[in-house]
Amino acid sequence: MSPELTTQLYERYPLILARRPRLGCGDGWFDLLDTLCWSLQNETTHNGGPQVIASEIREKIGGLRFGAGPANEYQRGMIQMAEATSSRICEVCGDRGKTIGPEWFRTRCEAHAHSEIHHDHASPGLS
Ligand SMILES: [Zn+2]
Repeated sequence: MSPELTTQLYERYPLILARRPRLGCGDGWFDLLDTLCWSLQNETTHNGGPQVIASEIREKIGGLRFGAGPANEYQRGMIQMAEATSSRICEVCGDRGKTIGPEWFRTRCEAHAHSEIHHDHASPGLS
């Protein structure tokens, strides 16, 4: 994810992203991560859920992998839903997409079927 969008998520969800994990996925999943983190934090703030802390956020075999803990049953469900939904959202632009393979699995719309994403952005520094 671009440093600009990564910084936005770090600033919006300082507790979930307290470890400043590298966001190893494309900008097309920004809204998915934004709504997931919002829902996870809302469960903590308003319903007494545990504070989720993310350890690993990346693309894996075309889908989102959101490694985090601790989480209650609702929060685990939110994470599963977001991971499942990622396989329908183009990782490049956020339009409707599908996971394509078989050699190189990625989730893309038709326009970005052959677009590569470089996941080598370093995390923005702590500020
Ligand atoms: Zn696209």
